Amino acid sequence: LKKLRQGLGKTRRGILNQLRSIVGQGPLNQAGVEEIEALLLQADVGVEATDFIVNSLQEKLRQETLPPEKAIAYLKEILRDMLDAPLEKSDRSVFAPDKNSFNIWLVNGVNGAGKTTTIGKISHLAQKSGYKCLIGAADTFRAAAVEQVKVWGERSGVEVIANKGKNTDPAAVVFDAISAAQARGTELLLIDTAGRLQNKKNLMEELSKIRRIIDKKAADARVESLLVLDATLGQNGLRQAQVFSQSAKLSGVVLTKLDGTAKGGVALAVVKQLGLPIRFIGAGEGIEDLRPFSSYEFVEALLS
Ligand code: GDP
Repeated sequence: LKKLRQGLGKTRRGILNQLRSIVGQGPLNQAGVEEIEALLLQADVGVEATDFIVNSLQEKLRQETLPPEKAIAYLKEILRDMLDAPLEKSDRSVFAPDKNSFNIWLVNGVNGAGKTTTIGKISHLAQKSGYKCLIGAADTFRAAAVEQVKVWGERSGVEVIANKGKNTDPAAVVFDAISAAQARGTELLLIDTAGRLQNKKNLMEELSKIRRIIDKKAADARVESLLVLDATLGQNGLRQAQVFSQSAKLSGVVLTKLDGTAKGGVALAVVKQLGLPIRFIGAGEGIEDLRPFSSYEFVEALLS
């Protein structure tokens, strides 16, 4: 939690100090709510999520007065509920591979978002937690991407399956990676996918081909499709995300670079606008700088 707080330092200093001074003046009033609204928009919480928070506060104010500590506590409750909203009630636990299944996690994202780094970090975490893990380097479009994934694989001690020789079809890599995983009793197969948005049609075709291979070859696998999003891009990153959400059947988000922005509030916009849960957050370039997402921890790190 301490590291997370440090990672969110920029956002905390921005939001928290001002929030304290707004609610610290006495019972929250309409002017205070308006100041909170401006603050949230500045922190990249986005219009939709901000409206929701402001409406909830106003509703509450109609029922009771909110002295400083109570206002903060209620605000935390709203934020936690928002972040948890995409989860089914039964699925509030920390996100992890299912030990009794073959888990395949497709990792999507625009180049530069931190996809490769995230795969390295997840493989390290999985390895440390005792999962048999394997990586499929299916971002065959960028030669450098395959090399980078291999470097991360060495760091985490996880084998990387990449294309051999001239075969550069990502779906073929996925096929090989699934074969290798099945032969070895792998529990978690991480698949790096291409991140070029310039050619949307190709991207969509490629992703659906990968899906077809998985359906055919590993029909009983538990498939997750994670979108890696750069938090420093704020609302622009969200617009890119829309393209992926149309083609990649996403089931969750990894929010990276939270250490590099004062706009960590984008986490709330992501959840509200995409309707997807955040599964991991990245707050640094090192192999350990990834945390399974917990709404409680996140909100505490932000507002305590
Ligand atoms: P990809 O193109 O999506 O595979 O992106 P990379 O994984 O190569 O990452 C792009 C850059 O972002 C690299 O310099 C990473 O070190 C950096 N990066 C990735 N995740 C984080 C993070 O959580 N925090 C910070 N500060 N940098 C990150």
